[in-house]
Parts: sequence; structure tokens; C-alpha cells
Amino acid sequence: MDRNPHVVVIGAGLAGTALARRLAELGVPATLLGDEAHAPYNRVLLTEVLAGRYAPDVIALPGPGPGPGPGPGSGPAAPIRAAATRVDRAARRVHCADGREIPYGTLVLATGSNAVLPPLRGLLTPAGELPSGVHTFRTLDDCLALSAAAREGARAVVVGGGLLGVSAARALAVRGVKVVLAQQAEHLMERRVGPEAARLVRRHLEGLGVEVHTECRVRGLRTVDGAVRSVVLADGYVLGTDLVVLACGVRPRTGLARAAGLTVREGVVVDDELRTSDPRVRAVGDCAEHAGRVYGLAAPALEQAAALAALLAAPEAPETPEAPGAPAAPYTGTRSLTRLTLPATGRGAPLDLAAFGETDPRPGDDVLRLSDATRGTYRQVVVRDDHLVGGVLIGALGSVGALARAWERAEPLPRDAGSPLHLLTDHDGGH
Ligand SMILES: Cc1cc2nc3c(=O)[nH]c(=O)nc-3n(C[C@H](O)[C@H](O)[C@H](O)COP(=O)(O)OP(=O)(O)OC[C@H]3O[C@@H](n4cnc5c(N)ncnc54)[C@H](O)[C@@H]3O)c2cc1C
Repeated sequence: MDRNPHVVVIGAGLAGTALARRLAELGVPATLLGDEAHAPYNRVLLTEVLAGRYAPDVIALPGPGPGPGPGPGSGPAAPIRAAATRVDRAARRVHCADGREIPYGTLVLATGSNAVLPPLRGLLTPAGELPSGVHTFRTLDDCLALSAAAREGARAVVVGGGLLGVSAARALAVRGVKVVLAQQAEHLMERRVGPEAARLVRRHLEGLGVEVHTECRVRGLRTVDGAVRSVVLADGYVLGTDLVVLACGVRPRTGLARAAGLTVREGVVVDDELRTSDPRVRAVGDCAEHAGRVYGLAAPALEQAAALAALLAAPEAPETPEAPGAPAAPYTGTRSLTRLTLPATGRGAPLDLAAFGETDPRPGDDVLRLSDATRGTYRQVVVRDDHLVGGVLIGALGSVGALARAWERAEPLPRDAGSPLHLLTDHDGGH
């Protein structure tokens, strides 16, 4: 198969934009379709826009280069603003909401994810919309709407205490909003860190005036004239509010792929060449499921985009009976580090957190921990059979690079280094 036919990318988010840009650098023209009203932007930085630290234009992704079109060094053409509504795989055409039909040789799905709407009583109006004052936090439009409502002294309930809920609560508090964070699980960020680290995150939020409730389930919303007025907790307690932020996780956007008959589990299933069940259709980023994993994080999305650009730009590999269509450099997964950086503000101290691998020890694992409550620092690593399998660092990230490298290498820890405690005390630039 021609490895380099006309490439159409659906989705001008982090992965789609990075892919189109890299392809342009490699001399492969691509058409990029995006359904958002804004030029491509870095979604990860929306929290800082909400906090008032960055203007929206500061988070724009590198735009079109010196000229669209083929030729190494040139940038990609600006995305076409269009929502793809259907993929006709037989005719190899993408149909758009505005009636446009775009032919493709290779199609890439980079459609990202949607915010999950929790099953709350009163969440949707009779017209099926969110009541006024209730916001998801996924797009720049979400962020601008929330930002406009986040006036000093307003009351907000953030539903969900994961990475996104914590970031949103902190951004709103920095703006002078009175925030209550309702977290259903036992502690904050339960998928990423253990209870002790979560306590430091909680202390940070509380220092900004956020009221944190764990093991707290929101059951419903009450509205008056289509605007939210309060949230109802599972125990019947009613909390008055002007704003509700839904931070209950994300779900891969797989509707197009499903309707086109591609294999979809949680995400669009791809192999080590980011190829879906149709070899002419690839998928990258939040919408893709590789080796049973949907990452939902920026670093894997960018790594997949880079890997796919290289694969699509590579000259066709000579097929041999031993290696039919051997890929240039297969994508084998990302060992990704979660970073949460909450900079210092007029209202509070900074908080820096990094978590990687398995932060929850299994029985029999060694857990090494250094915690300093006065300075608000915490370091913990999990060691299994002489291998570093995960860690969490808060406040003192000097050793994060060395730890992440040891984890990425997945090699046995050197026996001559004495106690693995050195993992917690070495700084980058050390061993
Ligand atoms: C507020 C916030 C903070 C975050 N912070 C972090 C963080 O600190 N660290 C981290 O690793 N990750 C973070 N993330 C997650 C990170 O942003 C995502 O993992 C990343 O954006 C995934 O990139 P993507 O290109 O796959 O998807 P997206 O960036 O979501 O882009 C997908 C694009 O495709 C478009 N699209 C979808 N369907 C169609 C269609 N049919 N037609 C045309 N266009 C379409 C969408 O509108 C969107 O623009 C954060 C996310 C949010 C919302």
C-alpha cells in the first residue's frame, strides 16, 4: 500500500495539530479539520487561562509555518473549520456538517475526548441542555464561559476531585470565587496518588480557601428559571451555589469511528502503527486505545502524533516474508508522568506534584517514603523485586528526572547503590 497518500486529520487539538505540523516538516501535505471556533490551542493550559494567569491567545499552538503545502520545513496549512459527521470508508471520503466532502488516502482520527456528564437529577433542561451556571471544562469556549461567570465572591461547587477538579477548584479560588469541591472518593486525585500525598494537595486547596469534602456524593441540582441555584448532596444537604463545574472524567470521542464500523472498545482500537481495524484509518491521542489503554494525557497524545508522522512519512518498507510491511518505528506505548504545577499566586503558595507508574503498592512491595509536613514536601517510591514501579513527589521535585529515568528503563535497581533510599535523596545530576 502507498504509505504516503493524501492525509486527512480529523481533530485540531494537541495530537492532530502536532501531527499535521510534523508531517509538513517531513514534506507530507495533510488536511486538518477542526470543529472548534478558535485557532488550535494547548488544552493543558486552560486552567491557567481560568486562573487569569494567561490570556487565551498566549496558549495558541504553533500556527501555520511559512507556507502551506509540501516541502520539508514548511508549516501545515491552517485547519479547515468543519465538523466531520461521517466517514465513508468505501468511497474514502469524509462528510462534514457544512456539506463539504473531503477525499482521503489515509485518514487520521484525532477527535480527543468529551467531558463525562454525571447522572445527576436535574442536570439537563427539558431541551437537553445544561442549566445556566453549570459548566463542563474541556474546551476554550467552556473556559471563557466559566471565566466570565467567575466573579469575585461568587459561589461554585466543583463536582469531582481528580486532576481536573483540583485544577479547576484552585483556578476559581485564585479568582476570588468561594469554592466547595465535592469528591466522591475517599481522597483527592485517587487515581494518581495515595492518601498521604492527597492530604498535601487538600491542604494546598484549603490554604486558598477551598472547602474540600471527600466521600461526598452530589445527587442532583436545583434550578430556578433555567439557572442553577443549589446542589443536593446524597445525605440530603443542600448547598446554595451560583456555579457548578463538572469534572467527572472524560470519555474518548468515538462516535465517528463506531458509525464507520471500526473496532471500538473504550477508545478506537489501534495497533503499534496506530492503525485501526481499517488499514487506511489511523487514530491518535485521547480517542485511541493502544494495547488496551486509553491515556487521556498530553504526553502520550504527542508521542503518538510524532510516531505516526514518522510512519506516514517513511518510505515504504520492502516487504519480506520474515517482515511483511515492517514498520519504521512502531509505537510501543508511553510511560507517562503526571505533572500538576500550581504556581504561587497572591493568594497561596505553589504546589508541584509529579506521579508516575503504580503509586498504589501491592502486598509485598517495598514502599519508601520521606515526608516533611512543615515544608509540605512528600516523596514516595514503590519498589517491586528490585524494580522501581512507581512514585509520587510533592513539593521537592529535585529527583524527579532521575526517578522517571529509572522507572522508564525498567531495569533492576543497582545493588551496589546500597539502600534504595538513595532514590529519594538523589537529585538530577546526581547518579
Ligand atoms: C483543563 C484541562 C487540563 C488538562 N491538564 C492536563 C495536564 O496537566 N497534563 C496532561 O497530560 N493532560 C492534561 N489534560 C488532558 C489533555 O489536554 C489531553 O490529553 C489532550 O488534549 C489530548 O489531545 P487530543 O488531540 O487527543 O484531544 P483534544 O486536545 O481534545 O483535541 C481533539 C479535537 O478534535 C476536535 N474534534 C472532535 N471531533 C471532531 C469532528 N467530528 N470534526 C472536527 N473536529 C473534531 C475537538 O473539538 C478537539 O478540538 C487536560 C485537559 C483539560 C481539559
